Formats: sequence, C-alpha cells, structure tokens
Amino acid sequence: MKCPFCGPAINRQAFYTGKHFVALYDIRPVVKGHSLVVTKRHVSSFLDLNAEEKAEFVSFTKKAIYIALKFSGAHQFDLILQEGKDAGQSIRHLHLHIIPRKRKDSLSLSKASWLRKFQEKEHANRQLDEKELRKIIQKLKTIAENNSKEIEKL
Ligand SMILES: [Zn+2]
Repeated sequence: MKCPFCGPAINRQAFYTGKHFVALYDIRPVVKGHSLVVTKRHVSSFLDLNAEEKAEFVSFTKKAIYIALKFSGAHQFDLILQEGKDAGQSIRHLHLHIIPRKRKDSLSLSKASWLRKFQEKEHANRQLDEKELRKIIQKLKTIAENNSKEIEKL
C-alpha cells in the first residue's frame, strides 16, 4: 500500500516545513487546529529517528504547536504518538498528533475515555473538502509568517 505521507498529495496539507519535518493539517480534524508533525523521510517509528531528526524533533514540534494553538485559539493541547497497530497507529509513517484543547471541546464530554473518542473520531469525522483545506492552510501559513521571529526562538 502506498504511504499517504510520502506522496505529493501531502503538500496541500502542509503549513510549515523544517529540514527533516513537515507540519500538516489533519484532513479529518477531530478539533479545530488538529495537526500532525511528520518526518519527511519514511520512518515508521519514533525509535528509528536518526541523530539529526532527533535533534530537530522537539524544536520543530514546538513551532508547529505554536501555530496550531494560535489558529485554534486554544492554550492547551494533547500530543498523541501512536506506535504500532496495537497502539492505534493507522498509517505506518511516524506522525505526532497535536490536539489543541479547550474546556468544553468535543473530546472533553467524557474525560475518562477521551482517547477512545479521539480514535473513533479520527476515522469517522468528515474529510475536509479542498476549499476548506486551502482556506485553513492559508490561515496557518499567515500565522507562521506573521510570527516568524517568535517561532524561530522556540
Ligand atoms: Zn511514508
């Protein structure tokens, strides 16, 4: 099966790019701002990151979080990294979910099972159409440009 994170189609979801990573907007967002940090290289596990990728991972993720939070208006977030099929990883290409969270968002209705809710919604939610996605990516890119000095420091 072709890896959806390795093809050119992924470019339309990209809003921020580093040396080894790219930040994508999730095509089926579970909440506003739901984004992904993805390696440019096809790597299935966090444990397979090479030294250069490891070095960039944290600072790149901070930058992507900054942009996703500004976009969503949230100040808090969950990070979800699913490793392997049994852990709920559906695409075997490393992707860290950034989930901006608000007090009464659609994941918080039942706090105990929010992760299960996330996993259900991740696949059941409606896929954004091209027009919606373009609009969102444009907003995210504008946030990245307008705050580039702040983001550089992260
Ligand atoms: Zn891949």
